[in-house]
Order: sequence, then C-alpha cells, then structure tokens
Amino acid sequence: MRRSALFIPTLREAPVEAEAPSHRLLVRGGYVRQVASGVFAYLPLGVMLKARLAELLRGELKAIGGIEFELPALQPAELWRASGRWNAIDTTMLRFRDRAGRELCLAMTHEEAFASLARELRSYRDLPTIWFQIARKYRDEPRPRGGLMRLREFTMKDSYSFALDAATLAEQFEAHAQAYRRVFERCGLDNVVVASADNGVMGGVESLEFLALSEEGEDLVALTPAGGCANLEVAGTLPNLAPLPSDAGEVLAEPEPFATPGVHTIDDLQAWGAPAERQVKTLVYVAQGVTVVALTRGDATLSEAKLARALGTSDVRPASEGEARELMGAGFGSLGPVGLPEGTRVLADHGLQHREGLVSGANRDGYHLRGIRLERDARAQFHDLRVAKDGDASWDGSGVLRVRRALEVGHIFKLGTLYSDALGVTVLDANGDARPVVMGSYGIGLDRLLGAVAARRATPAGGVSWPAALAPFQVNLIDLSSGGAEAEALHGELERAGTRVLWDERDERAGVKHADAELLGAPVNVVIGPRGLATGTVEVRSAHGVENVNLAEAAMTVAGLAGEG
Ligand code: ATP
Ligand code: MG
Repeated sequence: MRRSALFIPTLREAPVEAEAPSHRLLVRGGYVRQVASGVFAYLPLGVMLKARLAELLRGELKAIGGIEFELPALQPAELWRASGRWNAIDTTMLRFRDRAGRELCLAMTHEEAFASLARELRSYRDLPTIWFQIARKYRDEPRPRGGLMRLREFTMKDSYSFALDAATLAEQFEAHAQAYRRVFERCGLDNVVVASADNGVMGGVESLEFLALSEEGEDLVALTPAGGCANLEVAGTLPNLAPLPSDAGEVLAEPEPFATPGVHTIDDLQAWGAPAERQVKTLVYVAQGVTVVALTRGDATLSEAKLARALGTSDVRPASEGEARELMGAGFGSLGPVGLPEGTRVLADHGLQHREGLVSGANRDGYHLRGIRLERDARAQFHDLRVAKDGDASWDGSGVLRVRRALEVGHIFKLGTLYSDALGVTVLDANGDARPVVMGSYGIGLDRLLGAVAARRATPAGGVSWPAALAPFQVNLIDLSSGGAEAEALHGELERAGTRVLWDERDERAGVKHADAELLGAPVNVVIGPRGLATGTVEVRSAHGVENVNLAEAAMTVAGLAGEG
C-alpha cells in the first residue's frame, strides 16, 4: 500500500498531556487521537493494529471452542435489576433515560446480557459451551489516564462459559488461562505474571489476573521468591510473630485513659510516646447497612478487598463521621475498639494479636487509651486484613516480598451460579431435573493490551517494534528514490506475494522517512535509494540485523523474512 493513500499523521513531539511512553508513541505514530478524557479515536493505522489483535483473539478463543456473538452496549435497566447490579454498581455505570422515560445504561460488562440469552440453553447436551464477543464497554472511570490504559469507552474481548458442574467450569477456566498465556506471548509481552485477585463487583468465587509488569501500571502486584504472585489488594500477610522493639512496653491491668487535646492522626499520637506500630488504627465501615469496626496497626494499611472478603459481602463502604459518632460516641481521630456497644462486629488484623500495651482512641473526643490488649479488652475477630508491603516476609514462607507496578491486561472469573440463580439460567440434567448453569467470565481489554505492548516494545529511539502478530505492516519500504521504478516493482512483487507492505513513496527527506519508520514499527524495513541502486542492492533490516541484498532477490528475501513471524 502506498503511504500517501493512507492517513498517518505522525508528530515530532507528543502533546503535553501525553506523559506515559505508550501514550506518546501511539499519538506520535498517528495511531490514535484523544477526543475527550478517556475517549480516543482510532486512526487508520490504529484500526489495523486493533483489527490484528482482534483476529488473534478470535483465533485463540475459537481454538478453545468459543463461538462468537455480538451483544449491544445499550441495555435496559431491567436486565441489571434482575442481578441486583443496577443498585450495587456506583456511578461507574453510565445511565440515562430514553424519550419514553425508560431507564437505560451503556453496558460496562455483559454477564447479565449473556446469562439472559443462556436461558435458551435447554439440556445438559447443550453444555459445556463458551460464548464470546469483541465489543465496546463503557465505564465512567473516576481517573481516565495513560492514553489507552484506562478509557471510558473501550473494546473488550469478553467470554462466558456455561457448564453443568464445577469440575467442567474448572476445565473451561484453565482453557482460558492457557489461551490467555498464548495471546500475551504472541503479543510479545514476556512480562506477564498471573495473580490471584479480588472478584470485586463481578462477584463469584475465584479469579486470576494477568498483569504485565510495567512502570506504566496502576496495579501493584506482590511477588514471592518461590514464584507466588498476588494483586497487592489481596496478597496474604503473616501475623507479626517477631517481637517489635517497642513490645517491652507497659502491661496494664486495664486500659487507662489519658487526655490528648488536638490529637487526630497516627502521627500526632506518636509525639505522645506511642509509636505507630503500637497504635490501633480504628476504621468504621458500613457493610450491608450494618456499621462494623475494622482495626489495623497504626503503621499498616487496611485492605478493603480483604475486609469485604472477611465480611462475606462486596457491599462495603467507609462510614461517614456522623455514622461513626452514632455508634461509638466520638468523631474520627478519637475512635477505638474498647467499650463498644454490645453486638458490634469488630474485625482486627492478625498483626494486632498477642500484643500488650496498645494505644487507641477512647471513643471520647480528645482522649486516648493506653495499655490495651485486644484479646482482653475488645471482642475482636482476627483476620488477615492489612495490605502487604515490599520487604515483608512472604505469605508462602519463601523469603521477602517484592512489590512491583503492573498493568492488568486480563482477568478471568469463576462465577459459579451467581448469575444463573439471579436470572434463572437452568438446563435439564440427564435425570430430567432442572439445574442452575455454572458460569465463568473472562476479559481482555484490547486497547489497554495495545498500550501494554507499546510500552514493552518501545525502542530506545522513542519508536516501537511491533510483534509480527500485531504489526499493521510486515514490511516498510523506505523509498529514498521517492517513487522510483525499482521501488514500485519491489512493492508490487511483495504485494503479490501476500506480504503486508507499506511503500513510503512520498517526496520527503530521508530523515523524515526514517523517523516515521521508527514509529511504524514494522518487523522488516527495506531501504531502497540511489546509493544502493548504483550497485544493484537494497538494505534489509530485520531481527537478523542489517544486510545488503541484490535487487533481483530482494522480494523473495524480504517476503521470507516477513513470513517468519
Ligand atoms: P481495573 O481493575 O483495571 O479497573 P477491572 O478489574 O475493572 O479493571 P475487568 O472488569 O476485569 O476490569 O475487565 C477485564 C479487562 O478489561 C481488564 O483486564 C482490562 O484489560 C480491561 N479494562 C478494564 N477497564 C478498562 C478501562 N477503563 N480501559 C481500558 N481497559 C479496561
Ligand atoms: Mg479486573
């Protein structure tokens, strides 16, 4: 294809708002343009790139038995009311009314819509099956960022598995995990780790995230020396069994109040001789309408995902100060676990177990208590509730935990019968009894994945080198003769050989063409110009290095190299 027949507006400089390297590359290379916060237009080159990724995904999904669907993004509220998610999901869901006043949304995921179609599955003979689509999703993300990494309108490959029993779901889940590994490998992402993760708003029993380790990532992932891997939200911690330096502190017969005027934070209280690791941080949440108290050490951070898991519900939110005061009698900064009303549910991080001389708020404004031992002074249940830290002892006992930044490029869920029960998805088993269908759901975001590949495959010169499976063009013909007969002939021969070749026949300086080649990222570049032509050769650049090839053999050599990917 002639370059001038396409629209590839490359830029020397990236716009100022493009900070992440992948974002800069995709804008400079003429792949995408930002339309609004978290909303991007794909230009022709970007369309080609995304179409190649879509084909790759289709192939891998069909290889595990997936059948393709296309469901609408525009959906009625009723569908989401049936599963309970119309209310459970916050402002991330884009909602509006049509002219008749009916409530609608733009789907952020498609569990409900697929489950609703799955009601037409009749018998166990229709199972197991895997349904997939490549479709738009809409999420009003609070912080869109990083170019294609977090969008408000994006494309996802989402699949849904249906089975009669949990064992078959486990097979479908494993088939997806394998397919996803192949996808990321073919995309040239050699930095993907697989982590156990939080199910969040999807619900269900188990999930795995595929995370590309990258400084551009927003997720944090904990890695153990033995190869264990978990999203930091749910990475396990060990109780601190080793005594802390301050453990020699005071043992009192009962907690003792002391006045702490103006003290509101962990830091403030340190000045009163209570190091953060001896303080009890007291947080108040509302879980399914009931106020609960969560405790961690003052130097630890509570994991809301772990708290939700311990409470057995995802319907958990921080309490307002008014709600906290109503239960405990004091405002934020003076709360503590001692003397709470009978029946108050108190969950404590296991790092607070077996410890004397703890300090917390006294549930009286301007006062704290010292000499606390939770086992004696509060009716707390101990759980792993805190966020693990870099340098912690790893949960599997293999050594020290490392925390790295990562991009979540895929996520797979075992849903069980959550949606089947809610929407009435049943089939008749071999005995003729109706059984709820066991579901899984699986997602890969195409845009974010392209961003992750751009980040990973960035070249030192600020360009990219696309893996063969994704490259819009296998060959870039850098024509320094500006449309000469030899270049035209080579271009024609390559096209006839079925090679995806871009012929840069523009009347531009060599520097411009080389800079654009860097941004195009073709696996094979061919430089054809007066100097080589004088001796009947062209320069071929590929993964094998640079070689001068006789013009007569160029088409065959180049087509061969292009076909290697
Ligand atoms: P995140 O935790 O990053 O918000 P999520 O857990 O909400 O993502 P899923 O619902 O599991 O995401 O979606 C599956 C995949 O869709 C993700 O792994 C990611 O590749 C992609 N994805 C999710 N949200 C976005 C977004 N806002 N922009 C681009 N891609 C996204
Ligand atoms: Mg996820």
